[in-house]
Amino acid sequence: MSRKSHRQGEFPPAPEPLTVPVLDSHTHLDMVLEEARASGASAIEHGNGPATVVDAIASARAAGVDRLVQVGVDVPSSRWGLAVAREHSAVVATVAVHPNEAPRVSDVDVALAEIDALAADPRVRGVGETGLDMFRTGADGRKAQEESFRGHIEIAKRHGKALVIHDRDAHADILRVLDETGAPDAVVMHCFSGDGEFAAECVRRGFVLSFAGTVTFKSAAPLRVAAGVTPPEQMLVETDAPFLTPMPYRGRPNAPYLIPLTVRALAAATGAGVDALCAAISATGERVFGPW
Ligand SMILES: [Zn+2]
Repeated sequence: MSRKSHRQGEFPPAPEPLTVPVLDSHTHLDMVLEEARASGASAIEHGNGPATVVDAIASARAAGVDRLVQVGVDVPSSRWGLAVAREHSAVVATVAVHPNEAPRVSDVDVALAEIDALAADPRVRGVGETGLDMFRTGADGRKAQEESFRGHIEIAKRHGKALVIHDRDAHADILRVLDETGAPDAVVMHCFSGDGEFAAECVRRGFVLSFAGTVTFKSAAPLRVAAGVTPPEQMLVETDAPFLTPMPYRGRPNAPYLIPLTVRALAAATGAGVDALCAAISATGERVFGPW
């Protein structure tokens, strides 16, 4: 997620459904519902977005997106995500304090202890989003951010859960910290934002690259090259909803039912068939976050 909002207008219309189901590997349903409330949601057909978790799941399923990973960004949203994952079989959760929140947390140890306790739950399948953000966090917050990142890596390893990484303008430092601490078995580079060279480096290390709506942006040619060097068994697709809405709806609010737009762009970028790609991404999702 990227907090700062440029979103305007209604939720986009539902795309043509996928025939082979796939997951949304990174979504913030709490913020999607907030967005929908702000737009006066009553029903998704009216372009106002999902009014409830049930709506969000149903509209995603109708688009061929049958599993969701709900991502926490602070202790309250992590708790909320776990509650949703316990109630809905289509949803699993990840828990964390976001790197842009980490410098603002009054007591990092207390927050990390909370995240550690939540991470023990069987419906929590990942620790994240955590990582480094050199774009929004200034030099004064970097130490706290890196300490928080290291704490989350420990928690992921302790519980054997996937590590979900937020990397904003911090490729080299992300790799440095993971080299210093030792990476968990499953590492997901959420909203992958590097070029082909960085993608190849992540692939070589066994990381999983999760591509968001940014891969559809006209300016994102290096990202499509990155997708091209990522084998399907190390590839995921995500919305990061309500952010990063794929073309042609960039700037409008995002939700899991819009995954087909991004997965079709990924298929075009990689030369894969859409069905085969969905099957491969589903298998990767099951390995990393499953079973649902
Ligand atoms: Zn996010």
